[in-house]
Amino acid sequence: MPQADPPAGATNLPEPAPASPDKRNETIQSVALGIYISVPFCRTKCSYCNFASDVFSRALFERYTQRVCEDVSHAPALAAALGSGLPSPVDSIYLGGGTPTLLDPAQLQRIFAAVRVQFQVAADAEITVECAPGTLSPALIESLVACGVNRVSLGVQSFVDQEASSVGRLHSRAVVLEEIARLRVAGIHNISMDLIAGLPHQTAVSWQYSLSELAATGVPHASVYMLEVDEDSRLGRELIAGGTRYHAHFVPDEDAIADFYIAACQFFNSAGLAQYEISNFARAGSTSRHNLKYWTRQPYLGFGVDAHSMLPLPPASPSHAVAVRFATPDALEQYTAGTELPSQPISQQQALEETFFLGLRLNRGVDLQALAQEFGDEAVASYAPILRDGLSDKLLQQSASMVSLTPRGRLLSNEVFGRFLRDP
Ligand code: SF4
Repeated sequence: MPQADPPAGATNLPEPAPASPDKRNETIQSVALGIYISVPFCRTKCSYCNFASDVFSRALFERYTQRVCEDVSHAPALAAALGSGLPSPVDSIYLGGGTPTLLDPAQLQRIFAAVRVQFQVAADAEITVECAPGTLSPALIESLVACGVNRVSLGVQSFVDQEASSVGRLHSRAVVLEEIARLRVAGIHNISMDLIAGLPHQTAVSWQYSLSELAATGVPHASVYMLEVDEDSRLGRELIAGGTRYHAHFVPDEDAIADFYIAACQFFNSAGLAQYEISNFARAGSTSRHNLKYWTRQPYLGFGVDAHSMLPLPPASPSHAVAVRFATPDALEQYTAGTELPSQPISQQQALEETFFLGLRLNRGVDLQALAQEFGDEAVASYAPILRDGLSDKLLQQSASMVSLTPRGRLLSNEVFGRFLRDP
């Protein structure tokens, strides 16, 4: 992307403010840590799924649990070796997958116990477990509550049974409703549900049915994803090849999927689930603390297969980087065998880029004034041409010092984010 002097008056850029490394470090260190733990095991592989998850023998679960617990106990040493430290306390834990609830209750308990031994977990920490509907037996829910879980994310995808089964989901609408009731009886009211726009057989009418059913449950949080068509899923490969396996010929076209997404934004906003991020909607006070960490560049530490981490570095870091990122392997065998984790230092420039394109995912957008205080006026001003073009293309909008995506910009978000990327 070209760099250019900021044209006067092109955007409402804030007054100059020098970057302050000490302030930056205080800000980063004063925020709490989020922990993500991935469990890559599934009962069946959904046809649209492009995650690092699969169906594995239960014999592997024990080795995996052991490995995750060991990694948790080595976290301070890993952070120190990377020149960082571990912010404290931990105020969010997210067990994702995969299907974490396939682990035995005793294995889940060992993982949470390992985290609590190693980290100071805040009393009001948000503790989420992703669950596949159809796995939430009373005994399992009891064990989640015993582990301190206070939030459940359900991969519903559709309330129309034919649509769910066409992509390999094993639950029905009735099972979802039963399990929500069971979670509430157990005291877990903070429930999120995922829907996918673009499943085979989906129509405008059936999509509206799923949206209405979700809102009618009264859950405080929802996520809506548009079907991803890529080489990493069976359905994606079939769609690219133009075939008919996996009900590929019943997948709605791109325009219809975009319309479904727009309908979801409009309907959920009118149903009290306000959109706060490209794919996420919440009732007042129920945004996902964990996911907000990614979009606001707060520190997080990941364990398990294909888990990503970002930790702050002190201002005196020899590399002059402001943070370090690292990720575990995405292959189970490689992960359990244990390999050295390649790490990537994040420069001040990269951190600013990330702050733009991650912050723009949020409906509230990014605050140019706050960015100038953190990164310096000159650095932020160099983005003026990109901001100006985004405003004139009606992909961005500005109110005082806040810049955010327009509804059209949210549909074309990848294109907008690409404009903010510069070569390292
Ligand atoms: S979508 Fe979820 S449940 Fe289905 S295969 Fe992927 S990770 Fe497993």
